[in-house]
Amino acid sequence: MKRREFLTKSMGVTAAMALPFSTTAVASENSWDREYDLIIVGSGFAGLAAAYSANKAGIKNILVLEKMETWGGNSAICGGIACMPNTSLQKKHGIEDSPELMIKDMVKAGRGFNHPELCKTLATEAHTVYDMLIGCGVEFMDKIIRLGGHSAPRAHIPANASGGGIVVPMHKYLLDKGVQFQNRTQVTTLLRDKHNAITGVAVQEKFDFDTEKFKSEQTYKSRHGVIVATGGWGQDKQFVKTTMPIYAHLEATAQPGATAGMIKSLLAVGSLPIMIDMYQLGPWASPDERGAGPASFFADYSFSEGIAIDPMTGKRFMNELADRRTRAEAQLVVLEKGTENKPNFPFTFCSEATTQRAEGFKGAYRDGAVNKSNSVAELAKRHGVDEAILAQSIADWNEIVEGKPDPFNKPLDRRTELKPPFYSLRLSPKLHYCMGGVAITPNAEVIDATTCEPIKGLFAAGEVAGGTHGMDRLGGCSSVDGLVFGQIAGRTAANYKANV
Ligand SMILES: Cc1cc2nc3c(=O)[nH]c(=O)nc-3n(C[C@H](O)[C@H](O)[C@H](O)COP(=O)(O)OP(=O)(O)OC[C@H]3O[C@@H](n4cnc5c(N)ncnc54)[C@H](O)[C@@H]3O)c2cc1C
Repeated sequence: MKRREFLTKSMGVTAAMALPFSTTAVASENSWDREYDLIIVGSGFAGLAAAYSANKAGIKNILVLEKMETWGGNSAICGGIACMPNTSLQKKHGIEDSPELMIKDMVKAGRGFNHPELCKTLATEAHTVYDMLIGCGVEFMDKIIRLGGHSAPRAHIPANASGGGIVVPMHKYLLDKGVQFQNRTQVTTLLRDKHNAITGVAVQEKFDFDTEKFKSEQTYKSRHGVIVATGGWGQDKQFVKTTMPIYAHLEATAQPGATAGMIKSLLAVGSLPIMIDMYQLGPWASPDERGAGPASFFADYSFSEGIAIDPMTGKRFMNELADRRTRAEAQLVVLEKGTENKPNFPFTFCSEATTQRAEGFKGAYRDGAVNKSNSVAELAKRHGVDEAILAQSIADWNEIVEGKPDPFNKPLDRRTELKPPFYSLRLSPKLHYCMGGVAITPNAEVIDATTCEPIKGLFAAGEVAGGTHGMDRLGGCSSVDGLVFGQIAGRTAANYKANV
């Protein structure tokens, strides 16, 4: 059935219910082009975890839809770092940690705005994610690091230092289990029955993202409701500008397909929006690479063992391991001191010993984002800093490494003296994560804006759902968010049976 015909048929009912958007449609009983037990929209961490747990729960005919040519969305291009307390790897390394401590860290970063039940669910179930990933054949490095804002080292890194190290084995595992995947299929509309339960989707098949052309419009029925795992919309300039005008000019780190089509469809069926105008800025981003590549990875290590400097003062200006919002805001203040002709990019630098441990260093150095300076004088000249003041800042830091209290209270897991040659990177925050999305219950059911009760047959997980992280998210917590709530959504949907 053509989408226009489909929508026209349903228009009377839609209008009668006075819904604010036109991208919602009521399905008529015999109009389905295809039928499935469960449809999952989006092939990132959340969609894959949903398929995993639904399959484990015995659901047979599962279809994962992806609008892009490639699988995995932001999950495939991200660093794949996952912060999980109480895993067997963390215990092997003798690290003391707990879900309670992680919740404390998340709530501090979220400025207390985190939805308590969602936050608790993430932290307490995180270790199950580790077991699931190992079961799917994912390999992790045999080390655990501490990211900014976390009170304990709990960041697990895939062996290839990429989210692809999770997406690829999971995809293969699920294919082997008989889960069906269909790419270049854009979901345009969530379809409902006359009781407002979600019963399927309208799609554009053979969709080409660049030209927006497609071959045909079809409707797919889903007997266990629909799981939406479509991620964020950081590349949707219009949606970002409308919701948060002051961020409109910022470069985004997301993949090109991170647009707002599906969040609009969720709103169109009456989902409750939550913090939809809140975005996270990545404090490790550099103006000298596109998006967030190897330089961002390097920055995390440089923040940990080196320092960050405001060129105008020559001094440190932040706790380099504070949460992301604190660091991004501190950097924006430094940047704002500059002018178009004389920009004032803050920079971070570390010693050679740190570069030997730092993932991303080789790539960032090769690409020219990270530069080597053989002396303080060279480093000062490169970044336009007063040499004497910079030398003093380095000496001050080395005293902190020796045990003097740090006025910024940065936690020190490894004490590394700063000495030449130095490796430095310019910093400039980029739009990184959509804090908001649709409101969900801890069972991943999407909440109706008018009743504050779950919408029957509609589930959401991952970045498209809001609330878990409050006003700001800690690093390495989104992968876990998608994987935890994806698993939950798959289980909840498996227990739900649509009345069709
Ligand atoms: C560069 C970068 C590095 C990052 N590093 C980390 C990290 O190391 N650790 C961490 O925890 N987080 C990290 N993040 C954040 C994290 O990657 C994302 O928040 C997470 O991957 C989102 O997972 P998801 O499953 O919700 O969505 P995604 O992985 O984005 O998947 C959603 C998928 O849905 C598809 N889709 C969207 N709309 C439709 C539609 N209408 N029809 C069909 N398909 C659709 C998209 O094309 C996409 O493939 C990083 C993000 C970026 C951009």
